[in-house]
Amino acid sequence: KKWVYRFGGGKAEGSAADVAILGGKGANLAEMASLGLPVPPGMTVIAECCGWYFANGRSLPDEMKNQVLDVLAEMEALTGRKFGGTTKPLLLSVRSGARASMPGMMDTVLNLGLNDQTVQALGHDAGDARFAWDSYRRFIQMYGNVVLGLDHEVFEEILEDEKSRLGHDYDTELSAVEWQHIVDLYKQMIRDELDEDFPQDPQVQLWKAVAAVFSSWTNARAVTYRTLHRIPHDWGTAVNIQAMVFGNLGSSSATGVAFTRNPSTGEKSLYGEFLINAQGEDVVAGIRTPQSLTEEGRLASGSDKPSMEKLMPEVFSEFTAICRRLEAHYRDMQDVEFTVERGTLWMLQTRSGKRTTRAAMKIAVDMVDEGVITEAEAVTRIEPTSLDQLLHPTVDPRVERVVIGSGLPASPGAASGEIVFTAEDAVAAEAEGRKVVLVRIETSPEDIHGMHVAEAILTTRGGMTSHAAVVARGMGIPCVVGAGNMRVDLRNGLLIGAGVTFRRGDIVTVDGSSGHILKGEVAMIQPELSGDFARLMAWADKARRMTVRTNADTPTDARAARSFGAEGIGLCRTEHMFFEGGRIHVMREMILAEDEAGRRAALDKLLPMQRSDFTELFTIMSGLPVTIRLLDPPLHEFLPKTEAEIEEVAEAMNMEPGQLSRRVEALHEFNPMLGHRGCRLAISYPEIAEMQARAIFEASAAAAKATGAAVELEIMVPLVGLRSELDYVKSCIDQVAAEVSKETGMAIGYLAGTMIELPRAAIRAHVIAETAEFFSFGTNDLTQTTFGISRDDAAAFIPTYQRKGIIEHDPFISLDFDGVGELIQIAAERGRKTRPDLKLGICGEHGGDPTSIRFCEGVGLDYVSCSPFRVPIARLAAAQAAI
Ligand code: ADP
Ligand code: MG
Ligand code: MG
Repeated sequence: KKWVYRFGGGKAEGSAADVAILGGKGANLAEMASLGLPVPPGMTVIAECCGWYFANGRSLPDEMKNQVLDVLAEMEALTGRKFGGTTKPLLLSVRSGARASMPGMMDTVLNLGLNDQTVQALGHDAGDARFAWDSYRRFIQMYGNVVLGLDHEVFEEILEDEKSRLGHDYDTELSAVEWQHIVDLYKQMIRDELDEDFPQDPQVQLWKAVAAVFSSWTNARAVTYRTLHRIPHDWGTAVNIQAMVFGNLGSSSATGVAFTRNPSTGEKSLYGEFLINAQGEDVVAGIRTPQSLTEEGRLASGSDKPSMEKLMPEVFSEFTAICRRLEAHYRDMQDVEFTVERGTLWMLQTRSGKRTTRAAMKIAVDMVDEGVITEAEAVTRIEPTSLDQLLHPTVDPRVERVVIGSGLPASPGAASGEIVFTAEDAVAAEAEGRKVVLVRIETSPEDIHGMHVAEAILTTRGGMTSHAAVVARGMGIPCVVGAGNMRVDLRNGLLIGAGVTFRRGDIVTVDGSSGHILKGEVAMIQPELSGDFARLMAWADKARRMTVRTNADTPTDARAARSFGAEGIGLCRTEHMFFEGGRIHVMREMILAEDEAGRRAALDKLLPMQRSDFTELFTIMSGLPVTIRLLDPPLHEFLPKTEAEIEEVAEAMNMEPGQLSRRVEALHEFNPMLGHRGCRLAISYPEIAEMQARAIFEASAAAAKATGAAVELEIMVPLVGLRSELDYVKSCIDQVAAEVSKETGMAIGYLAGTMIELPRAAIRAHVIAETAEFFSFGTNDLTQTTFGISRDDAAAFIPTYQRKGIIEHDPFISLDFDGVGELIQIAAERGRKTRPDLKLGICGEHGGDPTSIRFCEGVGLDYVSCSPFRVPIARLAAAQAAI
């Protein structure tokens, strides 16, 4: 079996297409090597080996080890160095790399192959003993942490103690002898802690490190990350074993990271940071403050430390040329890692760069303008749900604001919340429904769960590529990093800003777009949906087949939805109108009436209210289709519950409280979800449906007169299981239509249809379609009735089901394609057989869920309908489904 793929020396066995085998890092190292870019030679142990490792009691296949040793011999030939050699030793980096990028979640070991002999040889060979000892202490620390399981902190403590003893501020000030002493202290500490010596045999080091990288696949933070990002746990990680190059070889050496375009704004300019005489994660770890790659970046950050452009002009121009080449080759913005060893540039990683939605939008649109990608490709480049970020509020520039500190604008949008200082506090507060701002000196992968629930994140240290910045951008959470003019006092639970001190629980606002931290809660404004957003959405609209409507019950919803591009209303739940203001009283009068005459009297009072609501709604939606659903919920939802409420209502209705109580009791149902609701109400009390139909028709006539364009009326009968139910209700509506038409002298056009939300309706769709002119899939109820799971009670066991692997997704969030989906398919097919022009849509929660929308496209629905804020997401998802 082929366990190992080699790369280097201008060729490679794999390519960027082999991500599933080699992991992202390995596949792209192979691709860069094939492109002839300067990549240190190495090899990738395939991700499948990770599964083998766990299946075989955490051991490594001998066949794989032999293949590794063979490639190692080739690497020795290529580099003119020898692994474990006492002259010119070859050192290795052992790096994780999974199929999906999981930044910082798993482990890397650098400088592997050093021991008490090879460290001497390395120093001698480089003519720099300090460098050799610096590398050795780094190796011991990483190995100690990743392989031996010791905390970083125990190493850091030793180092910090030594530094203060010697009077040094920075690592770079330590001499060879001082580092050598630290190496001794590290080794002694390992002996004390583990009762064993630091391993001197490079091969032992290598196999242990490979095994540790495999093991890191199941560490807690990696598991959390995968769960949050829905990455399968059985993919495993590949391991990349690569020759080391050294950014810590003096002042002509450096290490850095860059984005080929600005990951926050999307601007087409190289964006990155580097550190002279440093290695590996120094840049992102915030040990020293990194310097800008470009002069432009340096000026923008107001730093007086020289840029790489200034310091190393030749390497810089080689680097920018490579970045351009990579971007052209991958046809996307890249996030790269590199090292300069004594003036020679080495590329260590490239991948599609994570970016804010705003940046993604700008990059996609710019790349279309540059002729790099097509409009359709641009549409596929944006993750639909990420549009949420753009729809988030920003700080209103007109309001007065008290800036208490500032840092780098790492992730856009603004949010307010109570200060918490730990991830645990964030989670606890969020669970109580409070909004929090997570304030940290810097974040680490252990903070992920707290970051996830925070409204915003603030750190006082770190750059634009720091952990906090990368993660927040990925999650779409406003974030400011490196707020150096603020101080966190963890011991006393204080955040100290410009002349003010805040305690845990105090409210601040984080403006991730400007980098400002503001006192208290401030007014926000909705974002402009123009420019790049509008262009991209126009391309999406061109590409999609399905139309996108909204679920809107109020004029406010309807207006918002139209501004987001809704092309009609797919569901107006009329009952919501009855809860407003004094209407609930009239509604209760109607429900509690003893007979039809009493009901009609109350309905006469409700009619003008509904009519005026509908008139407003139809005016906003002039010319567009509007689906109105007749009264659906069980009546007792409207009734008074508490003693006091009952008394109040009884008085208003001139009834005895006792009598009222008995009426309320009589309306009690054991299982209201399956009780007296939906079309069953209209059949028991046709006068309710008649009133609603009249309100709708009269409003339609009035709005048409006012706006000059009528809405396309669709009246929807809920919870139909039998064709005869629909027939009965439809004949009531038809009769009212004829009456209103006669009274107003206007022709009334409308479609009568039904929701498909019962399995019986789906199965009998061909018969129901003889009456129904449209179907709207009410997938909330259809999911409830298909599974026999009440949505309101599902929270008690669905999470357990997910944890135990019984189901993968909550079927109320992501449509159950196999069961509920098949019913939809059956209903669509059978319905259209009877009535080829039957209009089909979906109006459940799933109408705004991208994977469900893809399913709807496959079934050939005419439209999806979702809540107003999800309309842009649905437009984009519908386009992607059609492309
Ligand atoms: P991550 O997936 O966390 O980014 P990497 O495998 O990229 O981990 O390793 C982290 C850092 O270690 C790299 O950014 C680079 O600076 C350093 N590194 C990795 N491999 C080498 C190498 N062959 N030579 C020098 N430095 C390396
Ligand atoms: Mg790392
Ligand atoms: Mg990396």
